[in-house]
Amino acid sequence: MSKPLRLREEMAQLPTYKAGKKAASVDGLTAFKLSSNENPMDPLPGIIEVITQAATQVHRYPDPLVTELTNALAARHNVKPEHVATGTGSVGVCQQIVQAVAGAGDEVIFAWRSFEAYPIITTIAGATSVQVPLNDDNGHDLTAMAAAITSATRLIFVCTPNNPTGTIVKQSEFDEFMKSVPQDILVVVDEAYVEFNRDEEALDGLASMRKYPNLGVLRTFSKAYGLAALRIGFFIGPEVIADAVRKTAVPFGVSNIAQSAAVASLELEAELLKRVDAIVETREWFEAQLREIGYDVPNSQANFVWLQLGVQTDDFVIQCTAQAVAVRPFSGEGVRITIGEREPLERVLEILKTFPR
Ligand SMILES: *Cc1c(COP(=O)(O)O)cnc(C)c1O
Repeated sequence: MSKPLRLREEMAQLPTYKAGKKAASVDGLTAFKLSSNENPMDPLPGIIEVITQAATQVHRYPDPLVTELTNALAARHNVKPEHVATGTGSVGVCQQIVQAVAGAGDEVIFAWRSFEAYPIITTIAGATSVQVPLNDDNGHDLTAMAAAITSATRLIFVCTPNNPTGTIVKQSEFDEFMKSVPQDILVVVDEAYVEFNRDEEALDGLASMRKYPNLGVLRTFSKAYGLAALRIGFFIGPEVIADAVRKTAVPFGVSNIAQSAAVASLELEAELLKRVDAIVETREWFEAQLREIGYDVPNSQANFVWLQLGVQTDDFVIQCTAQAVAVRPFSGEGVRITIGEREPLERVLEILKTFPR
């Protein structure tokens, strides 16, 4: 008689990461994907050439220490390279951090809703998620998060701007929060969307890292920099954690193509900022339009907008699909719409104008 294969107990409760869907094709309409917070623009100038050049070396293993990029990031952010660690996307880095600091019986605190990867990687590490509901303004409830700290807490994620609501954590509230975090608990500020922030009161992760010895920052090349497919992100923070991130990494995980493209992208900051400005401008236009037709969306500082449609979420998504636009639904809660091209955003507005409420 055959017996089922044995898996770790945690696997039974492990959700599969739901990636943003592609847009369905509809006759006569160009399809658009607004479901994964990708940059809608082509790679930065010269990047395809850098990638093509790097491709000539793919028969060799990449530099396992990611030396050139690590040094470039250290110089750019004015820290020693010892404080910098890279990984296969910032999700990869995130997972390396959780594995390094939390295991069975340990707790990882984060806001909810926030980034869907947090509960998954916490479960994979064998640790326990402590999800603290967002406040009424769809922002982090730092008072409640501080109150959730126990002797089992090992790590706290603070996602700002928050995915999927776009809200930021203010520096002043964060400084207050840090007073109640014991120094042996790591706080990781996930700044995947920081380039899109225009709120001067927002928490500055890198400046705060210089103030708090138990604070680290996560950044990515996937969003503003437009290198999502190359899987490259990084951590800047305490040396022991950067060290641990290197130890828990998949060997040679960051490809030579990703390393070269990231180094070259860092030198194109002026061009990058222009593109980010254009996305921010579209975001402001889209938010203003939404408010004009009566949707009270939270003020987003990211490259997406959160539309809290509750039970109407699925109906709205069906209509978007019919218009060849993919958005990211959270059934029963709302929809996250990426600030992509104007054309699909205009289709979304048309749908909402007649959408029953
Ligand atoms: C997209 C995203 C990331 C980055 O993902 P990569 O693995 O770097 O592509 C990290 N954190 C949040 C909150 C995100 O939304």
